[in-house]
Amino acid sequence: MADRYPRCWLAEDGEHVMFSHRCAQIGGEVLETMLPNGPQGWTIQNREPLTVSPSIHCNPGGTIGTCLHGWWREGKWVTA
Ligand SMILES: [Zn+2]
Repeated sequence: MADRYPRCWLAEDGEHVMFSHRCAQIGGEVLETMLPNGPQGWTIQNREPLTVSPSIHCNPGGTIGTCLHGWWREGKWVTA
């Protein structure tokens, strides 16, 4: 499980979602981030299995190009 990316899990506070992936923008190193929640961020639609909305996009509109785009649904990554 340690080397399966991308993946999401509930943060210790139970309110935020952690997201980790091997990011193309930093040479494939693992990048772990906490997704902001609320109207401008992400919503936990289901906790177990975890489903998060909306989709997760790394570097949208960036100059390097999109690293990844997909959804975390029912505990699994679904590429857009
Ligand atoms: Zn990335």
